[in-house]
Amino acid sequence: DRIAEPTPALGTLERGEPIQVFAAPPGTPAKPRIARAEGIYMWDTDGRRYVDAGSGPVACNIGYGNRRVLAALQTQAAAAAFANPASFESAANRLFAERLAVAAGPGYERVFVVSGGSEANEAAIKLARQMAVARGEAARWKVVSRQPSYHGGTLGALSVTGDPTAHELFGPLMKPMPKVPAPVTYRIPPGFDQESWAEHCAEVLERTILDEGPETVLAFIQEPVGGLATGALVPHAAYMRRVREICTRHGVMLIHDEVMSGGGRTGAFLSHEHWPDCRPDLVVLAKGAGAGYFPLGVVLAPRDRVAEVASGGGFMHGHTAFGNPLACAVGLAVLDETLDNGLVGNAAEQGGRLRARLDDLMARSPIVGDVRGKGLLLAVELVADKATKTPFPPSAVAGATLARVAMEQGLILYQRRTNAGRDGDWVMVAPPLIATAGEIDMIADGIASAVAETARRLGA
Ligand code: PLP
Repeated sequence: DRIAEPTPALGTLERGEPIQVFAAPPGTPAKPRIARAEGIYMWDTDGRRYVDAGSGPVACNIGYGNRRVLAALQTQAAAAAFANPASFESAANRLFAERLAVAAGPGYERVFVVSGGSEANEAAIKLARQMAVARGEAARWKVVSRQPSYHGGTLGALSVTGDPTAHELFGPLMKPMPKVPAPVTYRIPPGFDQESWAEHCAEVLERTILDEGPETVLAFIQEPVGGLATGALVPHAAYMRRVREICTRHGVMLIHDEVMSGGGRTGAFLSHEHWPDCRPDLVVLAKGAGAGYFPLGVVLAPRDRVAEVASGGGFMHGHTAFGNPLACAVGLAVLDETLDNGLVGNAAEQGGRLRARLDDLMARSPIVGDVRGKGLLLAVELVADKATKTPFPPSAVAGATLARVAMEQGLILYQRRTNAGRDGDWVMVAPPLIATAGEIDMIADGIASAVAETARRLGA
């Protein structure tokens, strides 16, 4: 009887206390309840339409309601929703791995499927560790990362995340890992230009490795194009080249966290295509790989080094959701959809179109201090004073205000909930890669209008 009890239809439940608690600026209205979503649009239960210019948390890369993905999910669920990888191989896992390896290119032939970005970063670190052990370098365990950065919310991923607030709160539970400055491009310290600052940041990485003792340093992890922590930071080419040289010189593995940037969002399938002289040893994907249809994370690794681990007993990472057939079926369908429809090229083209519009907005608006990013991974940084690049005080919650105003106008932007104002304040502009030129223009118009209203509310 209980099983037969009907579930109340969406939208008929009473709205009450929020079931998931995030910090929200005072006066934030109750969240609308989602009814359905299609393409780049979402509708709430009151019939209001929203344009999702953030792809959720920069995840829904191919938009909502994709028929191919839904069919793949349904077919796989009906065939075998689960198959323990310890006992069975699944066709979905094999096909996804094979096709993803081809898309990633030589050097990334091995594909480990896990359940999300945090787990994938932890798996990459564990794999790097096992690779070092297999080579007789068991003293290597430290993972250097950038400050600020974000690599996930689980304790291991958080220990390499460059977020002082998280370290203050969870520090006792985590192993502190060495941090080096992110090669920011907007607020460069006096006495440096873009290139010399990039060189300096790379030198700090090398000095840190030397100070720690290179024989103890396992890996350096970086977001090649930054996510929320840096607001789509695109490092100078000199930085990327030097990072690769330094890692190679000291036998340190380079891990690219492409959880947000990978799978075509930056206008290249993997971001290192923008910097051919900075090829990482391991690549981590998540978000866009499952595009919001199923939890999915991936580690890409070179065949020969995985073989060394395999001959030493195999990779010791096997959670319940490891290699999940539904996740793989979704990953495969998302990949096919991305490649068959030229979405990587579309991200480059529409990203250029959106960037031009946002640059124009920056030239006209008193509060837009910087626009940065690549392809459809863009950020708009708000400042109180453009001449001095002074951020709004944290109490102004400038980015959150912009996101809220945009939401009131039916436009969804992705905005961070912690640390706003600490290193600057920005929103991410990252529509699904399927966005058309017309939709990009509509998004650009929406942002311009929301920025103008935000400036008014902030008294700028
Ligand atoms: N790495 C980066 C760059 C991210 O942006 C995120 C999520 O925002 C993660 C890792 C963590 O991924 P997940 O939320 O899937 O665990």
